[in-house]
Amino acid sequence: MLIGIAGLGRMGAAIGARLIEAGHKLTVWNRSAAKVKALAGAAVAVSAKELAGGVEAVITILTDAAAIDEVYGGPQGLLAGDVKGKLFIDMSTVRPATEIALAAKVRAKGAAFAECPVGGTVGPARQGRLLGLLGAEPADAARARPILEQLCRRLEHVGPVGAGATMKLAINLPLMVYWQALGEALALCRPLDIDPVRLMDLFADTSGGANVLKVRGPAIATMLKGGDPGPAGFNIDGGLKDIRAMLAEGKVLGVELPLTERTLACFEEASRQGLGAKENSSLSVYWANRKSG
Ligand code: NAP
Repeated sequence: MLIGIAGLGRMGAAIGARLIEAGHKLTVWNRSAAKVKALAGAAVAVSAKELAGGVEAVITILTDAAAIDEVYGGPQGLLAGDVKGKLFIDMSTVRPATEIALAAKVRAKGAAFAECPVGGTVGPARQGRLLGLLGAEPADAARARPILEQLCRRLEHVGPVGAGATMKLAINLPLMVYWQALGEALALCRPLDIDPVRLMDLFADTSGGANVLKVRGPAIATMLKGGDPGPAGFNIDGGLKDIRAMLAEGKVLGVELPLTERTLACFEEASRQGLGAKENSSLSVYWANRKSG
């Protein structure tokens, strides 16, 4: 299938490599041209408009609502040309209203739309092992499914457009709170003389461990020892963006989210301390080592 990806960030590049491996003909476009060169085997479009014109389906996975506006809108945007009958799949983590508004713009051009935000980071994206939260009308979901199944170990159609975004924010909420909770638990362990590797192994084997520790536990141990766990998949500033979106959704729904509010303050502090580009789990390490103010 002729597929286009607009947005070759960490996730877009990993998804692109996976699709090439699965045998698709891929065309890519990215705002900053330098990232395009890093994806071997893909054709390159000079604009988002040209990209959309030359493929059957377009995938986007972009930072936020502003990025979606820029990439889809404007005279060189994805929707600028004749896109009748094409399929657009947005996989960004944004608020449900952003996806609903985007779906309306895409449909107004006679094209089909599905949202599919994902659980899992760069490694699972590269291996086709994401968890996809598909929000779409049934016919559009059926069109998107064959592509998404090659990217996801589990693909759940959770409702119309907007439902995937809601589910994704909900799934990320306990994870964001967990990084802070783990940091506070590790702060309590300061008097103990236990090797960080053993400590994280212990947490991971108890009810005090979340699923994510099976993947991130060793990296946290490395950071606790002062080491560098390698490049971030999902960073503190990305977490901040999601927590702000969760709180905004809470307001719309009239529900209080007190733990999420406290977690926002903790993430903001870590970002102010220069950790914005570091992996999310470095929040736990920051808090484990933090001197009381
Ligand atoms: P990233 O590496 O920072 O990439 C962001 C992409 O968005 C880049 O292609 C960037 O283009 C583009 N972009 C940002 N602002 C733009 C603008 N104003 N106009 C045009 N393009 C713009 O981010 P990522 O980690 O791949 O995440 C992408 C999305 O997936 C986010 O919504 C994130 O929450 C979600 N997500 C991430 C992970 C993860 O583990 N990283 C996991 C699940 C979901 P440039 O290269 O030109 O900056």
